[in-house]
Amino acid sequence: METVAPLQEIIDVIKESGGDGFKYCYQCGLCDTVCPWNRVRSFSMRRIIREATFGLTDIETEEMWRCTTCGNCPRQCPRGVKIIEAGVALRRISTEYGVFPGAVGPVKGVAASLLGKGNPLGEDREKRGAWAEGLSVKAFSEDMELLYFPGCYLCYDPRLKKVARATAAILNKAGVNFGILGERENCCGESIRKTGDEALFKRLARENIKAFVEAGVHKILVSSPHCYHTFKNEYPEFMVKFEVVHMAQYLCELIEQGRLELSGGYARKVSYHDPCYLGRHNGVYDQPRQVLKQVAGLELVEMTDTFENSLCCGGGGGRIWMETVKGERFSDLRLAQATAAGAQVLATCCPYCITHFEESRIGLEDSDAIEIKDITEIIQEVI
Ligand code: SF4
Ligand code: SF4
Repeated sequence: METVAPLQEIIDVIKESGGDGFKYCYQCGLCDTVCPWNRVRSFSMRRIIREATFGLTDIETEEMWRCTTCGNCPRQCPRGVKIIEAGVALRRISTEYGVFPGAVGPVKGVAASLLGKGNPLGEDREKRGAWAEGLSVKAFSEDMELLYFPGCYLCYDPRLKKVARATAAILNKAGVNFGILGERENCCGESIRKTGDEALFKRLARENIKAFVEAGVHKILVSSPHCYHTFKNEYPEFMVKFEVVHMAQYLCELIEQGRLELSGGYARKVSYHDPCYLGRHNGVYDQPRQVLKQVAGLELVEMTDTFENSLCCGGGGGRIWMETVKGERFSDLRLAQATAAGAQVLATCCPYCITHFEESRIGLEDSDAIEIKDITEIIQEVI
């Protein structure tokens, strides 16, 4: 076991990273009781905190990389410990040493791809806008109402390109004057920051901010709660502020303003999954449900563990790039919850959630028993 020494190094890094609150931990263990990992295997954030306090952090195991930054434990902590920030601070040490054990290994390649190509998937920068071919989507210009920023997965992933295309179709139908940046867009950087690679996050953020400012962007529409979170709450660290809206919120606005008419029906039972970075981290719970409730024929059936108690899909904190072994996937549990609620469709509005839910669905005995949809895909069917 390689331990990081001396103790002072860990304490200094934790302090610099805003994780100084570690010292307030009184080891009550409440964080462990609400952590989704303890539904699938034993995991103790309390122990990680204890070890860090004594400078005994083991950077050669995967333990400190398990946290999906779901946000469930910090809101429960009676001592106000900044658990996520402190966990990320430990990862910074590991990243600095270049130690990415076991399932964490892919993070190294992801970082290289982000650095060279601006996306974590190893795809060509020039193809970033290819999802929009044939859809009358324009390049962004200053006179437009908003910039649509699909994010990496919607630009490149075959399943998620459908969400980007549904979004563009809806915006066109509603008469929204919007554009995209195409190859001038970079990954927002949210998830790589959670792996502790602060320098790479800053580089991506600065490149995006430069592109936004040069293009005259004021309002940004996003499809990913991770882009939403970082543009809204983290980019202001660079002394800039853009108006940021998530598509679930914007759909609600378009319908309320009478710009988007839902003329068709969708006679299905639908459960809505609250993505951690839209719900717990940013308090957006009602608008996605309001949108779904306005669809004729659609019956919204709630699962257990919703709103602020939503069960994480397992994809945050950089875990989207790490293999989680079968039997330990939170998304399998979530699909079982949706099925138990009687849902025929599990709807959400996050590319990481959709990726994990689709993987879990394929693993079901009857993979046709439930569909996974982004809210925009449902709305596209009824306009
Ligand atoms: S809930 Fe807070 S005080 Fe309790 S063990 Fe966890 S971090 Fe420490
Ligand atoms: S943030 Fe979520 S995944 Fe991370 S330790 Fe807390 S409850 Fe567990």
